[in-house]
Amino acid sequence: AGKTDGKGQFRFFEASQSRLIQSRLQLKHRLIEAIELDQFVLYYQPRVDARTGRVCSMEALLRWIHPQHGLVSPLEFIPLAETSGLILRIGEMVMEKACRQIDAWRRQGLPVVPVSINVSPKQFARGEVHRQLAVHLARHGIPPSLLEVEITESAMMGEQAEVLAELGAIRSLGVKLHVDDFGTGYSSLSQLQKLRMDVLKVDRAFTSELGNSREGRVFFQAIVSMAHALGMVVVAEGVETGEQLTILQELGCNEVQGYYLARPLPAAAIPAVLMQGNLFVKPAVAIAAAAL
Ligand code: C2E
Ligand code: MG
Ligand code: MG
Ligand code: MG
Repeated sequence: AGKTDGKGQFRFFEASQSRLIQSRLQLKHRLIEAIELDQFVLYYQPRVDARTGRVCSMEALLRWIHPQHGLVSPLEFIPLAETSGLILRIGEMVMEKACRQIDAWRRQGLPVVPVSINVSPKQFARGEVHRQLAVHLARHGIPPSLLEVEITESAMMGEQAEVLAELGAIRSLGVKLHVDDFGTGYSSLSQLQKLRMDVLKVDRAFTSELGNSREGRVFFQAIVSMAHALGMVVVAEGVETGEQLTILQELGCNEVQGYYLARPLPAAAIPAVLMQGNLFVKPAVAIAAAAL
């Protein structure tokens, strides 16, 4: 298991992780082993309504529980998983785990909210994401409205016809589409609207500029008004301060996600969050601390 700091949060094992990724070949073997030994878990980070604090959804974030290195961040292994093709297996495993977890919470009688999963460009290029989603949703009897898919801008830039077909097929299932890390790629809002993306998640680089400069605020305001004009919901990623939250509320940003509201939490902490249902009434740290 991972180490914890004073606040009861897991921290990543930096020194040993650099040893872990020393050899790409070694890491690839360890990743294969990790899949076979089921060493992956999903953490969940709530996303809340910027006005009311109501929990609207949770993002599933992958963690590798390494027997020696503890909790390993996806940033350490997703790149190699992508270049080696292992992301196809890992990606399907994430869908399966998310659906199984939603079903478990439902069976516990909890007021469930949708879960969003991250889908890598490599998975997307295969054109099989919609079929896999359909299989796992059906296997667990989950309504498609309880699953959402996050795709980075770069994933949408490939073969236009194939991308359009895959996006259309996912949407036809009733699964909502989110643009992840918006602002870091080269897509324009009008392109994204043509692709009929439902939700725009603005990268945390832009959130962190709020309050620092007038330009930062003006820029975010422009994104919000254009996205709204095009019928998209706007989410701010990486909200870390109360000041950022206040500005985002003033700008009419729809939803917020970030450490200020809640860190990614292990599944065991989520029932308490769902029961409370509102992170303005009671902060997630308090809910999680009481639950764990
Ligand atoms: P992402 O999809 O943009 O996810 C948000 C990342 O920002 C997460 O990092 C989250 O822990 C972090 N974060 C959330 N709030 C804050 C904040 O207030 N401040 C800061 N500094 N960071 C915040 P994480 O969990 O390390 O994941 C990193 C990236 O790895 C994700 O970025 C996503 O691109 C990728 N990833 C995670 N899980 C999966 C997965 O299941 N499949 C794929 N393909 N990629 C995944
Ligand atoms: Mg994401
Ligand atoms: Mg993101
Ligand atoms: Mg991001």
